[in-house]
Amino acid sequence: CGIFAYLNYQVPRTRKEIFETLVKGLQRLEYRGYDSAGIAVDGPNKSSSDIYSNSICLIKKMGKVKALDEELYKKDSLDLDEELYTHFGIAHTRWATHGEPSAVNSHPHRSDKENEFVVIHNGIITNYKELKAYLITKGYEFESETDTEVIPKLIKYVYDNRENDNITFSKLVERVIKQLEGAFALVFKSRHFHGEAVATRRGSPLLIGVRSEQELPTEHIPVQYNCGHTHDKVHDKYTRSNSINSVGEGNAVEYYFASDASAIIEHTNKVLYMEDDDIAVVRGGKLSIHRMNRQAGEDPVRAIQTLQ
Ligand code: GLU
Repeated sequence: CGIFAYLNYQVPRTRKEIFETLVKGLQRLEYRGYDSAGIAVDGPNKSSSDIYSNSICLIKKMGKVKALDEELYKKDSLDLDEELYTHFGIAHTRWATHGEPSAVNSHPHRSDKENEFVVIHNGIITNYKELKAYLITKGYEFESETDTEVIPKLIKYVYDNRENDNITFSKLVERVIKQLEGAFALVFKSRHFHGEAVATRRGSPLLIGVRSEQELPTEHIPVQYNCGHTHDKVHDKYTRSNSINSVGEGNAVEYYFASDASAIIEHTNKVLYMEDDDIAVVRGGKLSIHRMNRQAGEDPVRAIQTLQ
């Protein structure tokens, strides 16, 4: 019942430091209650430019975060001292709603055995049975009893059926959440989009912390409304304005995603609360947010707040 994720962009961190950050984040969320925990980080990467050189490693464990923590250091294949300049790691504590507490039912959940897409989820997908039945007709094999597992399967389905290779990670997520009913906070990681993060929510809380050497420029981050053919115009208008969009390019920056501020406050006091149907993307170190369904008259900004 807790989400924590950490992205370091052009900030060298060893795999051990990344593990420590993720575990500490989960421990701050322990009070929310949980039965199991898991993480996903980059695995050992080959030097080839092939997309499949970006492997993702999942580690999941029943019980306390402490048990997961011990498990992390048992993986001989993972070099703890390897420095990862740009990396995105995701972590989760689960409070089972569908499927008993077990390692296989714990998060992150994956699209396939190659871990092309991995997802952490808080909440309940109420229409998962229909989605699962559909995906089974498309040949997908499910390994867990959770409602969550339809999400990574669905994003792979959308990805594999994409009409062109330029499709963005956030577009894939947008297509997926259009199919979902229920409550969710979701964070996605993919070997196809190395160093990129996509997060979204509806009903379940999610916030983003930003830590940068640079002064954060404004009080607000513009929300790029996604409204069909007018989108480009809106986009132009807002990218000219002062925003987090101007932080990060070529600059070291770190982002923290969490279910509540208690897991972020030790890293930064600059946070941004996501609202329903917001899709947040970190790409090339830059954070941008857009709202999936525009409502007339909405305030097109998200406040960056300073936590006390
Ligand atoms: N419904 C999901 C599950 O049972 C997520 C539960 C949670 O929020 O921890 O796996």
